[in-house]
Amino acid sequence: MSVLPILHWPHPRLSQIARPVGAVTDDVRSLAADMLETMYAAPGRGLAAPQVGVLSRIFVMDATWKDGEREPMVCIDPEILGASNETVEFDEGCLSIPGVIMAITRLEAVRMAWTALDGARVIAALDGIAARVAQHELDHLDGIVTFDRLPDAARAVALDDYAAVGA
Ligand code: ZN
Repeated sequence: MSVLPILHWPHPRLSQIARPVGAVTDDVRSLAADMLETMYAAPGRGLAAPQVGVLSRIFVMDATWKDGEREPMVCIDPEILGASNETVEFDEGCLSIPGVIMAITRLEAVRMAWTALDGARVIAALDGIAARVAQHELDHLDGIVTFDRLPDAARAVALDDYAAVGA
């Protein structure tokens, strides 16, 4: 396993739509292992393949490891099947936008399907931080970053902050 370099916005790969993965091959398992190592080293709660330059629909997450045991998840070809009507605003960082925290409104709970590393299709209900991380990482697979989730005025402020950080 190895820690991979994380691309910073506005790298063009962060604005592109990733391709479906399909079969879980040795290459996919190897990429997932490297992405988990990279995420924990960063340290972060989630990492999507485009953030390490790979335009494949795969992300890794561990919503709670900073508060306890590691519970790594590898989500391949994820899709949202359903969602709560409730939305919630919460401060979010992004490993590709270091130094800027943005208040992002997201669905409070989602039902998500994905392919796990063993090739099985999994369906789970996510809420709290897990729902937030999953939606953030799924956005990356569609070329969407936190700036894109902000109203125009807030986006302008966040872009100024990011420029000031000098990333
Ligand atoms: Zn991110």
